[in-house]
Amino acid sequence: MKKLFIQTYGCQMNLADSEEMAAHLLARGYVPTENLEEADLALINTCTIRDHAEHKALSFLGRLRKWKRENPSRIIIFAGCAAQRLGNRLKKTFPYLDLVSGAKEIDRFAELLDHSGLFSTNPAEPNPATQSVTGYVTIMRGCNFACSYCIVPSVRGPVHCLPSQQILRQAAQKAAEGYPEIVLLGQTVNAWQEEGKTFADLLNEVSALPGVERVRFVSPHPAFITPQFLAAVENNPKIARHIHLPVQSGSTKVLQEMKRGYSRETLLEKLDALKERGFAISTDIIVGFPTETPQDFEQTLSLVERVHFSAAYCFKYSPRQGTPAAQMQLHTEKTLEERLDILLNKVKGLAESAYRVQIGKPVQILMESPNKGRTSDNFWAKTKKSYPVGSMVNSIVEDVDDTLLLTRD
Ligand code: SAM
Ligand code: SF4
Repeated sequence: MKKLFIQTYGCQMNLADSEEMAAHLLARGYVPTENLEEADLALINTCTIRDHAEHKALSFLGRLRKWKRENPSRIIIFAGCAAQRLGNRLKKTFPYLDLVSGAKEIDRFAELLDHSGLFSTNPAEPNPATQSVTGYVTIMRGCNFACSYCIVPSVRGPVHCLPSQQILRQAAQKAAEGYPEIVLLGQTVNAWQEEGKTFADLLNEVSALPGVERVRFVSPHPAFITPQFLAAVENNPKIARHIHLPVQSGSTKVLQEMKRGYSRETLLEKLDALKERGFAISTDIIVGFPTETPQDFEQTLSLVERVHFSAAYCFKYSPRQGTPAAQMQLHTEKTLEERLDILLNKVKGLAESAYRVQIGKPVQILMESPNKGRTSDNFWAKTKKSYPVGSMVNSIVEDVDDTLLLTRD
C-alpha cells in the first residue's frame, strides 16, 4: 500500500482541512505514515498568516528536493494559504512539485486530484484519518472583515456559510464514530448564519445530537458576541466554558487602525459578560502594529492584566504584502522583540495564577488518555485513577503542578 505523509502548518482550520484532504487521498488507496522516508506522497498544508509561517513551509518544501530525487515516482502536494498566495509561481522555484492546491480550492480538492493524472485508482468513499476525542466540523469558510494587517480575506475569500443540515449530519457522524467533543470551525466562526438560524441556534442543535458531550468553537470574533449568544451558552452546559477570543490590542486607537470594528470599552463589556458566565478566556495579541505607541502598548498590558486571560498567543506584527498596514512605517525588530518579551512575561504570570485559582473547584474532565483530559474551561487535568478515553469524569481540583490540574477523584 502507498503511504501518505502530512505536514500541517497553522491553525485548527488547517488541521481540519488536512483531515479533509487526507480523506480523499486515503480513498485513493493511501495509508497514513508519520515517517517521511517511507512515504510515497507528501502533503504540505501551509499557512501564510505571518512571514515566518510561510518560510517554514517553503523551507520544508526545499528539503523535499532530495527526497524526490531519491525516488522520482514520489508525489508532492503543496496546499493551503501559502499555496493560494504564491500559486503556480512555486513550480518555477520548486520544479519537482507535482500539485499546488490553494486554500480556496479545498472544496474542489478531489476534482483536482482526478484531473492531475497522478492517481489511477477509482476513489472509495472518503474516511477521516485521525483518532482522538475531538471531531472537527468546518461550518464556514473565508472572512468578510478587512483587518488592515491580515492576509486571510485575500487567500481564503469572502464568507461562505455551510448549510446547517450538512453541519448537523457531519457532527452526528463524528459523534457516532466516537468523538464526544465537537469543535465547530471558521475564521469568524460565530458569524455563521442561515435564513432563520443564528450561530446560537446551531450551537444548541449540535449539542443536542446523540453522543455529543461537549461543543467548542474556533475562532469567534468579538463583534458576534451577542445577547442571543450569551443566552444560549448560559442555558446549555454542554457548551464548553472556554472561549478563544482574539482581541489583538488593548488600545482603542490601534483597534481602529487595525479596522477591528470594536473599541477597548465595548470589548471589555463583552469580556466581562463572558466571565460572569464562567468562561475562561484565551486570546491572540499582536505587538508592534506600525502605529502602536508606547502608550498604546501600555493599554494592551493593562487590558491583559484586567481580563486575566487563561492563555494568550502573542505575535510580533508581520507585514503581509497587499494589506493596507504593509504600507505603513515599521517598528524596528528591537522594539518588536522588547514589547513581545514584556507581554510574554506578563501573560505567563497570569496563566500560572489562572491554574492556581482552580484549586478547590469542581471540574468535568473529558478524558483524552487514561489519566489526562481537559476541563470544560480548557485546562489540562490529571486524574488519580484511570478512566476510559472519551469518558466524562466529575472531580474536584486538589492541587496544581505547573500547568496541570491534579484532581481528587
Ligand atoms: N479570525 C480571527 C480573528 O480575527 O479573531 C483570527 C485568525 S488569524 C488566522 C490568527 C491570528 O494571527 C490573529 O488573531 C492575529 O493575532 C494573528 N495575525 C494575523 N495577521 C497577522 C500579522 N500580519 N502579523 C502578526 N500576527 C498576525
Ligand atoms: Fe483576519 Fe480580521 Fe478576518 Fe480575523 S477577522 S481572519 S484577523 S481579517
